[in-house]
Amino acid sequence: MLLDQKKHQRKPEWLRKKISFSAQKDMDQLLKENGIHTICQEAKCPNISECFAAKTATFLILGDICTRRCTYCNVTTGSPHSVNKEEIDQVTDAVKQLGQGFADEIFRVFRTAHPEIELTPINVNGQVLGMIRRAEQH
Ligand code: SF4
Repeated sequence: MLLDQKKHQRKPEWLRKKISFSAQKDMDQLLKENGIHTICQEAKCPNISECFAAKTATFLILGDICTRRCTYCNVTTGSPHSVNKEEIDQVTDAVKQLGQGFADEIFRVFRTAHPEIELTPINVNGQVLGMIRRAEQH
């Protein structure tokens, strides 16, 4: 009886995530161009569209293969490849680009949607200020 009830239970609305490839597009491209792996993609995280649209990701370093075989996880299992010595530079470049994306979200997208809110950057270094100025120009 209990088993039958569970069989027909639907997941709650908040647990059902919609995948939007258009929302993920920019982040997918950035990660691909920089040769970066993420646990978001490898583990097929259901939050991926929401996180990627907000320029959030969890990098997976030292390759995309896991030596464990956890049955609940989608990450590919096997013997890892050799270490990619360029990875640190690839990750660094991606973080720099994401910084611009974050500045765009706040100082262009959010500001356009909420013109009544005044945004004032404080305690930012020259590099971050440059990102904010670039976002404001578009
Ligand atoms: S950053 Fe978002 S998409 Fe990536 S693993 Fe965490 S919750 Fe999932």
